[in-house]
Amino acid sequence: MRGIDHGILLAALDPDAPGRAAALAALSGPDVPAATDEEILAFLESAPEQPSAAAFWRELRDGGRVRVLPASPAAFEAVLDRAAQGRAEDVRAARTALTLVEAGIDTLLTACPKRYPELPGLTLERLQPGSDPVSRYGRQWLDEADLAAVTRALRSDWLTTGPTVERFERAVARVAGAAHGVAVSSGTAALHCAMAALDIGPGDEVLVPPLTFSATANCVVYQGGTPVFADVEPGTLLLDPEAVRRAVTPRTRAIIAVDYTGQPCDYGSLRAITREHGLALVADACHSLGASENGHPAGSLADITCFSFHPVKHITTGEGGMLVTDDPALAEAARRFRNHGITADFRQRERSASFAYDIPRLGRNYRLPEFNCALGLSQLNKLPLFLARRRELAETYRQALAGVATLAPLALRPEVEHAYHLFVVRARTESIRDSLFAALRGRGVGVNVHYIPVHLLDFYRRTLHTGPGLCPEAEAAFETILTLPLHPGMRPGDARRVAGLIMECLENGQKNNEPNA
Ligand SMILES: *Cc1c(COP(=O)(O)O)cnc(C)c1O
Repeated sequence: MRGIDHGILLAALDPDAPGRAAALAALSGPDVPAATDEEILAFLESAPEQPSAAAFWRELRDGGRVRVLPASPAAFEAVLDRAAQGRAEDVRAARTALTLVEAGIDTLLTACPKRYPELPGLTLERLQPGSDPVSRYGRQWLDEADLAAVTRALRSDWLTTGPTVERFERAVARVAGAAHGVAVSSGTAALHCAMAALDIGPGDEVLVPPLTFSATANCVVYQGGTPVFADVEPGTLLLDPEAVRRAVTPRTRAIIAVDYTGQPCDYGSLRAITREHGLALVADACHSLGASENGHPAGSLADITCFSFHPVKHITTGEGGMLVTDDPALAEAARRFRNHGITADFRQRERSASFAYDIPRLGRNYRLPEFNCALGLSQLNKLPLFLARRRELAETYRQALAGVATLAPLALRPEVEHAYHLFVVRARTESIRDSLFAALRGRGVGVNVHYIPVHLLDFYRRTLHTGPGLCPEAEAAFETILTLPLHPGMRPGDARRVAGLIMECLENGQKNNEPNA
């Protein structure tokens, strides 16, 4: 144990030990010898898998198994660095090391205040050792606080339509810069509520981009309206205001702009069009919670904004979504539509001691339960950390792939702060994309393609007679786009490893004389 007093060590590890402060001070003192990387790794490798950090430490202590403490910040940093290189055994070791941090070893917290200022979710990550983080393009990130929040909600008086729903609505609306929030059971439900609140119906046209998840267009069809596809800009793949202008007809009622990958659209130009033609502007911001344009957050840029809390999105409620708006009438209409079309929900009727209600217009049951909202509130606390991690990973990809001539990331709008739901690159040709997709999937990297243009899906071809040629930019993009793994459970080393595999696959492809040179 290289000169570290066992008693001091145990006191430092035990949150309840009377001498803990003194022990911590001693451990971080100048005459404590630093452990070597090898010693730290050996120690970490010997750590058994345990359901919680506390139990893990108890086991170590009771078994007398603590051999080396990463006494110096530099030594600890070295472990993290090696983990960032992506070596599997080091990743495992670093995970354990990070769990030590969460266990409350203050000396270690000082080791990495810059790169890992906050370390949520580590204990749970050990509970759900979800294979290689890059095996999925997106994944939820939960921690013990999330579990506790859900449990608290389950023990409360209300399982649905209670106070947590309202708290979650206020909290998301605040982050999104809007006056009202309406929590619903999915992002799709939020979009449907938006269409219902705007009274979209048969004969109405709503302009949508084709490069989006199909729900953006489906919600118009749910209301009997007609989605009309307007093409995207080739650089950003965001809805092109010029294409929108060309697609407006006397029947157009609204535009749904999609903040594809997490970058807000050109709302200034879109707003000019909606003003000129008296249209409603809806933002499908399912990719862009936490993004902003000229300092204005996603949620404050359109008449109605819709978010999703699906597990791959920025924060999760399991399934869930929210519509935010500044307009109290639209919020009220969405609220009713969420609850069968009933004029007063259960709590409102209880408050007024009345059984009376009416259904002026038919709605749905799109309510989001209390415990989902409790999870959402707890997740929202971590949104700044999630965004920071996503931006860090995107920057890592950008730098690591800067020298690759056959791939390019999407163009950035200078006036936006990107939320990076997705990191999408474009290959020079379809065959490069296809072979890269196959090669990376073959190596366990969860690459994906977002999206098959909606107007090419069978339902739309049959019912709206859409097809190839309708939106050439989206169709060309579809042939060459590739989504790389990006979620808060990844670290920069994971992104560098993916970039390395991409370069390797591209080189192999060239060697095999594939037509991608
Ligand atoms: C995720 C998503 C939706 C739908 O959200 P759900 O919560 O899965 O219903 C809609 N539009 C876009 C652009 C999305 O990414």
